[in-house]
Amino acid sequence: MTGPISLVYIRPYMKKSSRSRLIIMAHPDDPELACGGSIARWAEHDSVFNIIVSCGEKGTWNKNASPLLVASKREQEAKKAAQFLGVKKVIFLRHPDGEVATMKTLKLELAALIRKLKPYTIVTHDPWSRYFHPDHRATAHAVIEGIMIAREWHFYQFLLEIGLQPYRPKELLLGITDQPNYVNDITQTYKKKIKAISIHKSQLAQLPDWKKRVHNHVRKDGAVGGYKFGEGFYKLHI
Ligand SMILES: [Zn+2]
Repeated sequence: MTGPISLVYIRPYMKKSSRSRLIIMAHPDDPELACGGSIARWAEHDSVFNIIVSCGEKGTWNKNASPLLVASKREQEAKKAAQFLGVKKVIFLRHPDGEVATMKTLKLELAALIRKLKPYTIVTHDPWSRYFHPDHRATAHAVIEGIMIAREWHFYQFLLEIGLQPYRPKELLLGITDQPNYVNDITQTYKKKIKAISIHKSQLAQLPDWKKRVHNHVRKDGAVGGYKFGEGFYKLHI
């Protein structure tokens, strides 16, 4: 049978298509802090990938700590937290902590990974928010410029030679923003976000009031969307 009647029977059995979501952040604990609750929600249906630009080897107050050991510890924490939230893979780009720059190498790394992983959504920092850490701004600008390279035919044509066709993601979410225009309801996954942040043990000593700060933030963002707990973003269609 053809025509609309057959569609009526087919539609209820059609599986909701799975999407790829790509979280690109400067440091190992940034994904959980910015969007751990959203990651947990997406991972129920979709393939989530985390890209960590720097391993955060200078992120310690212990003056005797070895930066190499700090980096290794933080990579392990990032993998464990991501695994807990259901992330498929964590990719480390290992740029120097505190010195992340929106340079050609980083833009090309991101463009190649965007073409390869074909994300529906990309999440990064909001480069126009009032951040203290310059790595967040540099990462976000590199993501925006990397998307431009990823979607256009005539940028860096060697990408075509290695089989990476142009790809245009559908949406860009800028996280921990001063002006959210889009909020994900994380009421059901808030506890998972807290647990995932607590896996970053090397960082918790430097953030003694982190639970209170996270709680206040997700309540404030949640209120914008009418939810108990939420993660706010500035959403751009690209
Ligand atoms: Zn950070």
